[in-house]
Formats: sequence, structure tokens, C-alpha cells
Amino acid sequence: MTTQFPAGTILGYPRIGRRRELKKAVEAFWAGTIGADELEATAATLRQVTRDRLAGLGLGRADSSIPESFSYYDQVLDAAVTVGAVPTRFASLVAADGTIDLAGYFTIARGEGDNAPLEMTKWFDSNYHYLVPEIGPETVFSLASDRIVREFEEAKAAGFITRPVIVGPVTFLLLGKPSDAAPEGFEPLSRLDDLLPVYATLLDRLAAAGADWVQLDEPALVSESIETPRSESLGALEFAYATLGRLARRPAIFVAAPYGSLDDALPVLAASPVEAIGLDLVRGQVPTDFAGLAEKTLVAGVVDGHNIWRGDLAAAFDTASRLSTLSPHIAVSTSTSLLHVPHDVADESKLSAELTSWLAFADQKVGQVVTLARGLSDGLAAVQAELDYATRALAARHAAPGVRDGAVRDRAAALSESDFTRGDYAARLAAQDVALGLPFLPTTTIGSFPQTGEIRRARAQLVKGALSEGDYVDLMRAEIGRVVELQEEIGLDVLVHGEPERNDMVQYFAENLDGFAVTENGWVQSYGSRCTRPSILWGDVSRPKPITVEWSAYTQSLTAKPVKGMLTGPVTILAWSFVRDDQPLGETARQVALALRDEIADLEAAGIGVVQVDEPALRELLPLKKKDHADYLDWSVGSFRLATAGVTDSTQVHTHLCYSEFGVVIDAIRRLDADVTSIEAARSRMEVVSDIRSSGFDHGIGPGVYDIHSPRVPSVAEVTELIERAIEAIPERQVWINPDCGLKTRGYAETVESLKNILEATRAVRAKAGAVVPA
Ligand code: GLN
Ligand code: ZN
Repeated sequence: MTTQFPAGTILGYPRIGRRRELKKAVEAFWAGTIGADELEATAATLRQVTRDRLAGLGLGRADSSIPESFSYYDQVLDAAVTVGAVPTRFASLVAADGTIDLAGYFTIARGEGDNAPLEMTKWFDSNYHYLVPEIGPETVFSLASDRIVREFEEAKAAGFITRPVIVGPVTFLLLGKPSDAAPEGFEPLSRLDDLLPVYATLLDRLAAAGADWVQLDEPALVSESIETPRSESLGALEFAYATLGRLARRPAIFVAAPYGSLDDALPVLAASPVEAIGLDLVRGQVPTDFAGLAEKTLVAGVVDGHNIWRGDLAAAFDTASRLSTLSPHIAVSTSTSLLHVPHDVADESKLSAELTSWLAFADQKVGQVVTLARGLSDGLAAVQAELDYATRALAARHAAPGVRDGAVRDRAAALSESDFTRGDYAARLAAQDVALGLPFLPTTTIGSFPQTGEIRRARAQLVKGALSEGDYVDLMRAEIGRVVELQEEIGLDVLVHGEPERNDMVQYFAENLDGFAVTENGWVQSYGSRCTRPSILWGDVSRPKPITVEWSAYTQSLTAKPVKGMLTGPVTILAWSFVRDDQPLGETARQVALALRDEIADLEAAGIGVVQVDEPALRELLPLKKKDHADYLDWSVGSFRLATAGVTDSTQVHTHLCYSEFGVVIDAIRRLDADVTSIEAARSRMEVVSDIRSSGFDHGIGPGVYDIHSPRVPSVAEVTELIERAIEAIPERQVWINPDCGLKTRGYAETVESLKNILEATRAVRAKAGAVVPA
């Protein structure tokens, strides 16, 4: 049965299309402007284009080196739908023959009426988000979709033998959460016995269709953030692959484990009947030898699938070669799916030739894999020229102007503890009381106001050159004027300018800082049809001139109320960009922090007394392994403090975090030492306040009272209740009243109504509380 594993492969390829064709087709299908047939046809064309492209880049047509990794929305949802793990509330989507169609598939992803969609959460330490399967004792596993088999057959009809990819059974269950019907303490992993027969059926069908290899992704095995005890996960792994391994008819099994090192899961896989094991050798190291490894094909994940750099090809070759001391069967691959990188550097016409030569997007990474595979089979000499070329590009990158900026480095090297520390909180509080004179339960927003069509059009015209810089500024100022007037009319206490001039909270800063570049077509999938276009942080970061100061100063000139200056924090800027890989993230964060520190000093000098530094990604970047947490929290918290600690006591520093799992990073949030922290809370009905209380957090805190992810307008009564819950749990002098997040994606009508209700509720609570507790 064992066909040879291909010498070079990738774990997966971007699915959204070079020009986001899939996004457009899927959204058209949702809007009802195209039917399922047309969507299927677009998807089939994309798959064909991908196969042809990959073959053109040097992967084999018929040797299973091309992965079949397409997804209409998400690979975890694909697995759920394949094995029939459909929550009871969506039971009506399952047809009489047990299958689920495309419309049903999207309904599970997006919800319908009162039926909430599957929850969405971050895929390991990437910016990709997957849908969380819901598993309970009631889940009936059965092969509910044979899309994977059909896609294999489609490729075969076109002359390809591809390698179907599916999330493995252990990871599928470990990433799942107990369904609503599950009893207390239920673990999805307890359903492994019932799930495996469906995988067995699928493997049988794939073998019958002619698949030589199948790829089962088991990244949950590299993660410690999985709550299940390690021994249970390893036991499940052993059982799952012993079971699948002994099937009478199946393709050869390739278990891939991207995003980290397998550690103690590797011996388990080595002792199992699987034929090939994928190792992430970008994150992990070449393992030491032990029994069983020599019989496996070891797939060396040496080309970084998670970043956009050309990297050190010679070192990658060396690492892959070292694996051959462990097994005679070696192959080369990317460390992760290429899902995390854009399609092709050649699609960028505006990047400098120099920067371009340092980059490798998906297609270039495929080329690197092909080169390394050739080197392994034909000998180093066959690829020496290519390795040398990469080495020269890397050397040129290290030496290029801007990559290291002496002034930036000297400044970072001269920092001392006092640069990271503000004065005593009580003294700050007193000074801010005097300076700002805010009422009990102060109200504010998170920064952005609705981005109207007019604003977007103006920006597009500015980019095209159809609108002059001066006219653009006038339009934005007019918008700021409206936003200020609106806030005054509603009665908010700390005003914002509304961020109309920002396309995106990270890209805006990237465009205005040295050391960054922005792409034209560098889209990557964030979730479903949502894509982002991260900026490239390639060099030492500095601020050539003030960025937000004129906007904020102008806004302050329009009102007697305090205006909050709005900045994006260092961690979030890093998390949502492609970041240089030639120095620790902490060093890069420090440079960004220093640029922000200067910006804040200029804001202060321009009369701005409140500054908010958003860090919605603070938790997102938390490393997978616990041993790495302390180091991460040190530099991430340190960079925030460095950015903000230069202000005087009377300047109020705010931060904003975009989630409600306060507990996980509470210590880090406390260490940020922001005067006021706003967080999401409306959706979970203020559940977070108990965490805040038990943590003893004693600075200002604004748990959101308006869920901005929904067009719904919260009633006065609803907001009142949320505020009351907050002040019941938290000392009321600490509490701020604000929405969950920015209002950018909302319309004006619902925004105005919601804010009015928030103010009315706040006034009511103030009046009532004022009667009992003197403010
Ligand atoms: N200040 C940003 C806004 O209001 C914050 C957005 C975010 O937290 N993601 O849009
Ligand atoms: Zn937010």
C-alpha cells in the first residue's frame, strides 16, 4: 500500500483567490445575486487554477504533492459538516438522506434568526479564526458531506492525484466545546470512539476514489492551551491512529502538526501505524532519535508558512538534511499551511525592488520547497546556486539602509526603568480629577464613529489622485465637526474625533511610520469571507513627523469638553502586520512604543489631556506554550508602558481591549497601569465584572454596555441593568460607561439611538446612586 511520499509539498494553499474571487462569489451567494451552481462553478475554477499554478511552480501532478485544501469558509467547519457534527438547533438543515447543502453549511457559520452561529475563535497563534464545533452526548456522527471525496475526484478527472486534507479526529474534538445539551464536565474527546468510524468511512471512500495519501492535521497536539490533560490527549492520539492505521482499505496517512513542536506526542505517532509525520521545524527543533522514527517518512516543515520572508534557505536545507539521520525517508514542506500569506509577490507593483527581493509569498514559498526537495534528492550541488541567491538576498537585507537605524537603536539601548513607570496612581487620580472634572460614571466611546460611504469614497479618491490633500482634509474636518456636535448633543463626557481619516487602525499608523510598507494585493483570510491586508514591518521603526496631532488638536478646538487622542498600541500594530523575523518581537515592539511615546508627548503639548492606546490584540499574541507566557507578557506590557509612561500625572491614559475573557490576562492588564481600561462585556451580559472584582483591579474600568457587533439598539432599561450590574460588583468610582468597541462598522441611525439610550440610562443610574452614595 505504501506509495512514496512526495519529495516536496506544502501543507495548504490560500483559498480565497488571488483577487479574492472566492470572497466575492461567497458574498454574492449570501446576497442572493448568484445561485449555488454559480458559486460552485467559481470555486471549481479556483481549485483548477490553484492546481495548475502549483504544478507550474514545480509540485507533481500525480504524486500527491498538491494538497486538496480548499474551503468555502473554514476547515474546522468543513470537518464538522463532514462528520455530521451539527448542533441540534440546526437539525433542520440536514436533509432526509443525512447530507447538508452549501446553504446549510453557511447557515451554521453565520447563524439565522435566533439560532446563533458556531462560536469563532483564533486558530493557534495566527490571525485566522475558526468555528468551534459543538459536541455533546447527543451528537450523531455520520458522513454528512462527501465534498472532500468529490474534490479529489474533480482533480483526478483533470489529471491530478492530489492529497486530501482534513482536520484530524483528535484535534477536531480537542478544539470542540461541549454542546448546550452536554452535562457538566462533559468532554468532547470522550466521543472519539464514535467519531472514528466516520473518519474510517471517509478514508475508505478516498482510497476507493484513488487517493494514495491523506493529510490529517493535528495541530492541537502542539498546543498547551488545550485544557484536556496531556495524558488524555496522547492516549486519544494513540488510539485514533491505531484504529485508522489498521483499516483494510485506506490511503497512506500523513499526520501534520503545524504551529509548534510535537514534543511527547512524537513518540506516540512514531509508534503508530501512520506512514508520514509532519514536523514544524520553524517553531520546533530536529528531534532526538527514538524507536519507530526510521520507519516513517519525516516531512520537514522548514519553509515558514506563517511569515512572508524569503528567509535563510541554506539553513532550511541544513535542517531538513539533519532529519535524514533519523529516517531514510525525508520530504520537505512548509511549516504550516500557506493560508497565512498572500498569493504572490509578483502581484505587488509598488514595493521597492529591494524589499521585494526579501519577500516570499505563497507562490515563492512553493518554489522554495521545490528547490529544497530537489537538493535533497539530487544533492546540494544541484541547488547551490539557488541557496546562494537566497543567502545573498538575506545578507543584502541585513545591510540595507533602514533595516538598522543607529538613532533608533541608541535610543532603545539607553532606556531605563523610569522610562517604563508612571507616578503613583492615587496622585494621578487626584490630578486628573482636577484637570478633567468628570462626573460620576463618566461616558465615552471607543474611538471610531460610523465610516460612511462618503468618507470611504473621499479616501478612495485621494488615493487615486482625484481629490487633493487639502480638499480631503476639509472633508474630514467637516466630518469631525459633525461627530463633535453629535457627541455634545448626546451629552458624552470624553469626546473623540471619530477616526474618519483612518482606513484601518493599524495600516493608518504603518503608512505614517518609517520601517513599514503596505501592499496592494497582500490579502489573507481572517475568517470566512473576511480578509485583511497586513502591512509589512521590515525595518527599524521611527516617526518622521506627528501623525494624529493635527486631527486631535483641531477636534479639541471645537469643544470645551476633553477630547481623547486615539492611538493603536505596539502589540496590536505588530499582531496585525507582517513583522520582520530578524530580531525578537519585543525589540520591534519597543521601537514602535518609542514612536508612539513621541506622538503622545506631542498630543499633550497640543493640549490633549486624555490619550487612548488601543491594545485589542494583547491576548491574541499570547504564545501557545505556557513557558513562553512570562517573556511575552513582559515585553508586551513593557511596550505599552514605554509608550504611555512619559505623560504627566494629569494626563489620563486609556486602553481598550476587544474581548471579555479578562481573567486570562488580568495580571497583564493590571500591569499596563492605564488609568482607564475599556473592555467588551455587553454580549456576555457583564459576566466579566465578577472576574474584575475578584482580581482586585482598582483602576478605571469601562465594561461595554452596547454590543456593537449587532445592529440592535439596546433599550434604556437594558443598559440600565448592565450598568447596575457593573456598579454592584465594582466600586462605582472606578466605573466608566462606554460601548463594547468602536462604532466604525455601524450605521449612524442605530449609533445615535444607542448612544442616547446609554446616556439616558447613565443619568438615571447617576441620579439613583447619587441619592445613596455621595459622588
Ligand atoms: N479605536 C478603535 C475603534 O474605535 C478600536 C477598534 C478595536 O478595538 N478593534 O475603532
Ligand atoms: Zn474593540
